[in-house]
Amino acid sequence: MSQIEYNISTKRIEIYVEETDKELKDAYYKRLRDISYNSYRYANDIVNKQYFKELLKIGIGNSDNSITSAELKERLESVTETSEMNFGYKYTADDLKKALPSYVRSAVNNVVFKNYNSDKKDVLRGDKSIRNYRRNSSVSFVIKGLVGLKKAEGKDFRFQLLSTPMKTKLGRDRSNNEAIFDAILSGKILMCDSQFQFKNDKLYLLLTIKTPKEKVKIDKNKTLGVDLGINIPIYVAVNDGLTSKGFGTKDELFAKKQQFQSRRRSLQHNLAITKGGKGRNKKLKKLNSIKDSEKNYTKTYLDTITKAVINYAVSNKVGVITLEDLSGVKEHANEVVLRNWNIYDLQQKIKYKAANIGIEVVMVDPAYSSQRCYKCGSIHEDNRPTQETFKCIKCGHEDNADRNAAKNLSIANTEKYKIEIKKHKDSVKKESE
Ligand SMILES: [Zn+2]
Repeated sequence: MSQIEYNISTKRIEIYVEETDKELKDAYYKRLRDISYNSYRYANDIVNKQYFKELLKIGIGNSDNSITSAELKERLESVTETSEMNFGYKYTADDLKKALPSYVRSAVNNVVFKNYNSDKKDVLRGDKSIRNYRRNSSVSFVIKGLVGLKKAEGKDFRFQLLSTPMKTKLGRDRSNNEAIFDAILSGKILMCDSQFQFKNDKLYLLLTIKTPKEKVKIDKNKTLGVDLGINIPIYVAVNDGLTSKGFGTKDELFAKKQQFQSRRRSLQHNLAITKGGKGRNKKLKKLNSIKDSEKNYTKTYLDTITKAVINYAVSNKVGVITLEDLSGVKEHANEVVLRNWNIYDLQQKIKYKAANIGIEVVMVDPAYSSQRCYKCGSIHEDNRPTQETFKCIKCGHEDNADRNAAKNLSIANTEKYKIEIKKHKDSVKKESE
């Protein structure tokens, strides 16, 4: 039987207490703030007690040199009448315990004990000090403390959090949390122990979710090279040298971008000659909303195009994707592309989506990928008679320039290719000396 694998992630969602009676509403908020305050005291108290317990262990252990760690654990538990995990809880003052709902208490205990176990060695060696929990840390609760999730008006949802009536404030919902909640309600996504946090007078739910990993069949020997082009935003090619495809067109992205830019420019011009008052504020607002729509448009465009790339990789059973490592490249041939969308975002989106389905992403050196002939390997700047076309001056091979580059990138993670490029770089260096 195969076990389902999950991706764990945390969503940050603004929420608020939904209560019309002001007194009652204030009381709800006060209670949550008190829980938040006491949970931080509780966390620090538990971690301190856990280290006291370590001292106790040394005391018990020293009385007998031949004691094994299993025996030591047993003796400690019989002396203290509790497990190591519950040691902190057992010796915590009653008033602190009573100040917290049990769902918070056990979640905090779990989190602190887990952190303590990972820190312990370093602390006892003196390489680290005891972890300190801050006043405004988020408050952990076991997920049983969140009940009655229901769809509300519009995009929003209602639920009870630690017996408090809550509603989400998804607003424009750019991270599409509505879809997450819908998937929770239909059972496709599971909620795990989570947290809430007060920040700048706002209340947030830090919801941890478990999403089943999609199983896709992939072939580790199949690589997809991704070229960020000028004429076509993304060109991809499989390392079989046959399968390739372009995504998007220069025009659809640039035309839209130019629309935004000209609207912005004319508003900025208007602003410069408008002195003050209401008219100016209105224009400023308008300018900001144009900037927002431009950002949104780019984000949606990137999402759509990267999704299409990943779907193409999946349908070709690709196991590896190569992306151009542009960190060391000062002047990239595709600077038009660089200016019009954020390459970092684009690559992050591909990385994230690929990782979700188990496709490996390798960053490769993009040097000469646009000048190298995929067919014979000869590298020459004259191999590019125009921006759109590739024509090898040595063997005569002709191709679309972006496709030829994508094909080179699809093999750029192989040793053979790396050696070839290094050789070329060395010979160019020699010539210039
Ligand atoms: Zn050639």
